[in-house]
Parts: sequence; C-alpha cells; structure tokens
Amino acid sequence: MAKYCECGICGTGTWCEPHHVFGGTSRKISEKYGAVVYLCRPCHEQFHRHPSAFLWLREKTQAKVMFEQGWTLDDWMEHFNKNYL
Ligand SMILES: [Zn+2]
Ligand SMILES: [Zn+2]
Repeated sequence: MAKYCECGICGTGTWCEPHHVFGGTSRKISEKYGAVVYLCRPCHEQFHRHPSAFLWLREKTQAKVMFEQGWTLDDWMEHFNKNYL
C-alpha cells in the first residue's frame, strides 16, 4: 500500500509505493526482513525500466538488512542466495 514518506531514491516527501528490492523468489523474504523501499511513482517506474542503474539501492538495502539482523555474509546468502555487495 502507498504511504506518505520520503522516496528511497530521490528523497522527495510524497506518496510512495512499496518496491521489493529483491524480487522474484526473494519477494517474500524481502518483506520478512525489511528489504522493501518506498519510492515515488517516477522513481519507481525508472527503477523497473532501468534496474541496472540502481544497483546501489540493492547494495544499500543488503547492508541495511545485514546490519539490522546482525547477519554475516553467510547468513545473508542463506536467505537471499545472492550477494549484491
Ligand atoms: Zn523519487
Ligand atoms: Zn517495484
């Protein structure tokens, strides 16, 4: 559901949509471990159009989740199976 917050890419305070940083099979665990960012509509569209331009967002989110969960890289790999750092 959309909520009012700062966009995770451009920082604009507006209505933002949830975006699962690690999609596909990782979508469910993205939700479970907080790997969901809120993006304004233009940034969200940009992300899906040019995912390779936003690798930094994946790096940042992986680092955030590992920090919050107190995970090592091995713990991360156990859950997400792919390293973005
Ligand atoms: Zn934005
Ligand atoms: Zn999305």
